[in-house]
Amino acid sequence: MNQVCLRIQDPSLEAYLQIGGYQVWKDLVSGKILPETALDTIKQSKLQGRGGAGFLTGLKWGFMNRDLPGDKYLVCNSDEGEPGTCKDTLIMRHNPHQLIEGILISAYVIGANVCYNYIRGEYLREYEACENALAEAIKANLAGEGILGKSLLINIHNLLGAGSYIVGEETAMMESIEGKRAMPRNKPPFPAQYGLWGRATTINNTETLASVPVILEKGSQWFQDLGVENAAGTKIFCVSGHVRKPGVYELPLGTSFQDLMDLCGGVRHGRKIKACIPGGTSMRVIPGDKLEGLTLDYDALKAVNSSIGSGGVIIMDETTCMVTALTHMMRFYHHESCGQCTPCREGSGWILKMLERVLANNAEPAIIPQIREVAKRIEGKTICAFGEAISWPVTSFIDHYYDEFVYFAQHGKSKVADTQLGFSWNEYMNKDAA
Ligand code: SF4
Repeated sequence: MNQVCLRIQDPSLEAYLQIGGYQVWKDLVSGKILPETALDTIKQSKLQGRGGAGFLTGLKWGFMNRDLPGDKYLVCNSDEGEPGTCKDTLIMRHNPHQLIEGILISAYVIGANVCYNYIRGEYLREYEACENALAEAIKANLAGEGILGKSLLINIHNLLGAGSYIVGEETAMMESIEGKRAMPRNKPPFPAQYGLWGRATTINNTETLASVPVILEKGSQWFQDLGVENAAGTKIFCVSGHVRKPGVYELPLGTSFQDLMDLCGGVRHGRKIKACIPGGTSMRVIPGDKLEGLTLDYDALKAVNSSIGSGGVIIMDETTCMVTALTHMMRFYHHESCGQCTPCREGSGWILKMLERVLANNAEPAIIPQIREVAKRIEGKTICAFGEAISWPVTSFIDHYYDEFVYFAQHGKSKVADTQLGFSWNEYMNKDAA
């Protein structure tokens, strides 16, 4: 298997040098590879951002004016707050030098001289690994001042967040780096024109930046050939939920869903899949009957009205109560709304209250279309994409499992526990603890 990011399990500089690490960086600094050539290679590789939006990395880099005088910034988004996603943690823990090389190369190509690696607040071990690796890289003259004996300065700072979800949104992250509360900014202006402290800034995800040295080493065609049309390279999938072997798997884009399930040992207890969220909880749920023959790439997931997102694949088996699952998710989103936009702040609260009324046997079935309507009205009316992160799960859960929601409102208990499993609601709620 050609792995791009999860190549080694040893965070030391020595281990990374043994697999040819920092050679591309040395070639760039020595002039053997020109920054323009590196930019072209990344463009031709069709690398798409691995944080969720899937924007073409080379195109994004092209928005930076590298000749602009003064400080320019590169931010590595290692916040990784999307529920179901735990991929960047492995890169930082086990292969931090590849990430540092990716940051250095990317900074050099776009003309940035200061880089921030913004790490999720809970990732203390990853922060430590990145700090150790950075100290090694500086000592080896690979980063910092006077890189490889040249008058080249690129400073990298590892920053630890404070535990918010919304700080993973790029403009909220810039606010946080500037020392302010993590509230998303209105766009435009976009970060490449007006980013950190009003200067040109590019923000890329950890997996995206860690892919850069390998693409430049092996070539854009090699990278494209790993994946399928419109989805080049590999993607790290984090599989959780009702599978026998939950875990993190780096696979070529275009891999079949069934192959991923086989790697995960299938559904636990030999049950059937009821649903899958393929890209973290902000993405729309896919019902089990649409998973057959599905491949894991941008076009295929779009065709079933979902998205690859951040690669957090959540599997739900037939014992899952979708009303309860959605309520848990909405509790999270309501808590994490930054509160700037009325539709997001109030809408998430209304949705949660209405779902809790359904769970408490205190609602009529007519409340279900109302919940959907509130969610639908949030979409497209907020400063940041958090509005969609609330709306998409709600509308898709209700669209695909409408009868379950109505049943709960009618009977005050889960249809799954009541009609399918043959045990009581209380037994159902305690089944995993038993
Ligand atoms: Fe904040 Fe929500 Fe508005 Fe985003 S959509 S800026 S999280 S209130």
